Formats: sequence, structure tokens, C-alpha cells
Amino acid sequence: MSRPARIEIADFGPCGDTLLLAEYDAEVDTIRVNGRALERVRAERGALEAELFMASAVAHEAFHRTQPNASEAAVHAHVRAATGSDPRRFETFVRVRYDRRDVEP
Ligand SMILES: [Zn+2]
Repeated sequence: MSRPARIEIADFGPCGDTLLLAEYDAEVDTIRVNGRALERVRAERGALEAELFMASAVAHEAFHRTQPNASEAAVHAHVRAATGSDPRRFETFVRVRYDRRDVEP
């Protein structure tokens, strides 16, 4: 890999149960992390958990970038090894707690 992807914190809009935590856009070689999800983790679990969420999301998408044919199970194993935590902790927490009342006007 010649150089790292661009990393952005982006507003994905309110998504309810189908909340996307992060994505990799190969066309512009950019990893985007859901800023609303990041702020939810920070507000409810604190700055350290928010850092871990960010690290997990970037590690997840970076692995998709370098290993585009990897299964989600392989990606999760990579994130677990890279961050020392179960990547599903954030999926469950953010999705369950992401109440529509909090994000829709
Ligand atoms: Zn994935």
C-alpha cells in the first residue's frame, strides 16, 4: 500500500436500526466514520470509548480497503487483533441506543 486512505468523520444522517457505522469509498480512497454514532458513544461512554470506536471503525474499513474480498468474519478478527476489543460491542450499543427521537428534528 503506497499511502493511507483519507479518513473523515461524516454526517450519515439519521438511519435508525440500519445505522451504518462507517464506510470505505474506493472511488475517492476515503474511510468515513459516522459522526453521530461517534458522538453518541462519547456522550454515553466517554472519550476513551469514543477513541476505541474510532480505532475500530477505521481498522474495519482499512481492512476492507486492503483485503476487498475478505469476509466480515475475517474483518472482525482483524479488528479484534488490532484494537484488543470485540468490534461488535459498538454495533450492538450504538444500534440499540440510537433512538430516532434523538436524531430527527
Ligand atoms: Zn465490514
